Amino acid sequence: MRIVLFGPPGSGKGTQAGLLKEHLGLAHISTGDLLRAAVKAGSPLGLKVKAVMEAGQLVSDDLMLELLEERFAQADAAGGFILDGYPRNLAQANALDTLLARIEQPLDVALLLEVPQDLLVERLAGRAGAEGRKDDNPDTVRARLQVYEEQTAPVADFYRSRGQMVALDGTGRVEQVRERLLAAIGSTTASAG
Ligand code: ADP
Repeated sequence: MRIVLFGPPGSGKGTQAGLLKEHLGLAHISTGDLLRAAVKAGSPLGLKVKAVMEAGQLVSDDLMLELLEERFAQADAAGGFILDGYPRNLAQANALDTLLARIEQPLDVALLLEVPQDLLVERLAGRAGAEGRKDDNPDTVRARLQVYEEQTAPVADFYRSRGQMVALDGTGRVEQVRERLLAAIGSTTASAG
């Protein structure tokens, strides 16, 4: 199973991807986690992307693709994956398509977690207190939500036009959202035979 999980910042992608990984035995590939690890390690890439992330903007498409190719080359990705945080614009959606065709691992489904904006702001403010992520401060959150609307939301239409998109209600308890996701994945598998 190869899944793209997407949705606005605060929609619960990371939490849900972690649960699905356990349940379905897939690799969880989070570009946000990969970038944060690079920043923490102080690697050349980390030094390059730190300021961009703290401003809530997108890291360059070239860098992201390089990072992603490296990650897909790791053994666990061959058994299927949940991609969380990528693609974030149409150029990345096209790059992903090309990459997955090349490694003969085409996507099965793109799942969109829908959450109203006021709830996103509330969740991210809560997370800022709990986890202290630098990009969860109010200014950066605003920038991230705007980047999502302008650049990432069109990616839904990209997958919708190919009949690969399933939109889900991302509100409610974590377990409820998880059940909705599993049901959607189940029916995808069933219809694929
Ligand atoms: P969220 O989706 O909650 O905003 P992520 O952990 O997915 O958080 O991403 C955090 C930051 O990492 C983004 O705001 C962006 O700066 C950078 N980032 C993550 N994925 C990508 C990507 N595919 N392209 C460009 N930048 C990215």
